[in-house]
Amino acid sequence: MIMPKITTERKYRICSTCIMDTSDQKITFDDCGVCDYCNNFESTIKVNWHANEKSEQELKLLADKIIKEGVGKNFDCIIGLSGGLDSSYAAYVAKEKMGLRPLLFHVDAGWNTDQAVGNIEKLVDGLGLDLYTEVINWQEMKDLQRSFLQSQVADQDLPQDTAFFSALYKFARKNKIKYVLTGANYSTECCREPEEWGAYPGIDKTLIKDIHSKFGQRELKTFPIVDIFFYKVLYQKVLGMEIVKPLNFVPYIKLDAEAELERRFGWQKFQHKHHESRFTRFYEDYWMPRKFGYHKRRAHFSSLILTDQMTRDQALDRLSRPEMDEHFLKQEFEYVANKLDLTVAELQQIFDGENKTCLDYKNKRWAIGVGANVLRKLGMERRLFR
Ligand SMILES: [Zn+2]
Repeated sequence: MIMPKITTERKYRICSTCIMDTSDQKITFDDCGVCDYCNNFESTIKVNWHANEKSEQELKLLADKIIKEGVGKNFDCIIGLSGGLDSSYAAYVAKEKMGLRPLLFHVDAGWNTDQAVGNIEKLVDGLGLDLYTEVINWQEMKDLQRSFLQSQVADQDLPQDTAFFSALYKFARKNKIKYVLTGANYSTECCREPEEWGAYPGIDKTLIKDIHSKFGQRELKTFPIVDIFFYKVLYQKVLGMEIVKPLNFVPYIKLDAEAELERRFGWQKFQHKHHESRFTRFYEDYWMPRKFGYHKRRAHFSSLILTDQMTRDQALDRLSRPEMDEHFLKQEFEYVANKLDLTVAELQQIFDGENKTCLDYKNKRWAIGVGANVLRKLGMERRLFR
């Protein structure tokens, strides 16, 4: 089912508490000028999320259960590690605070920054854990990314996200690892960016296949794509895979976590969220704001404002300029083009082309929406999805 596009122009407005604004077409404001993300945080997230003695106890119970079920196995859980802050800190919490024996699992989709690779090595050594790295076939990765660029959708990180999560779920299932730990958390992600800002809600095989069938040039023989209904229904409900988010049970303050990892392991902090991937850094700092007018940092910073880790003024100041300087971004434009076997002129032509959305392609968005509403009603998803 194709959802109607909203074309009515709205007068510009920005929330009086966070920095979300009408670049999210569906944002609403209450009488005090406070947006629905802020109100959802107060009414739904905050009341269910406490990093205190009670959550410490809950984490201990969870750890006991995972340890008990893992007796006799090589690993009691698996953690997808990107080298970024959230997954790195989740690995640290799992080993040092929960006493687990996780397998660290990294997916190399070809865009790792040197800093991400260095961080992964430091964590593996420092925590004394095993690392398994799955390398995605670069020719297939490249073909899918080129297809997505040509499709003109805002969701240019779907190929990487699909590879990361699908490879992790597949590996866990194949090796019968029940517990999948992730760095997902409320503290830095409670304000989820709206869907139109390139945040398609899940891995939709129908969508990916349709875009690839229209623009791709080679068959995806090994590229992992596990559809959302597979991992939400078959893996999690039928086969019993459990997704655990340990960072919601511990005090998780971005600056403190960065300092702790640096002090303990020599881990190096990034300029900004998602900068562990060279493609994502370019996409979020250049492609999205300039081609689509969407700043993902608006949501990232709003999360930090809501959790008292940043002031609104600091956020507005940071947002007033890109994270990286112009010269660097120009170099990255050339790097991305070259790596994807496009000339700079060809990438520029795509950049100048007409924007589209995922709803312009075959998709299962409607069904995913029904599923998400069910989860929300059951209290299994508290963030605002739209
Ligand atoms: Zn707000």
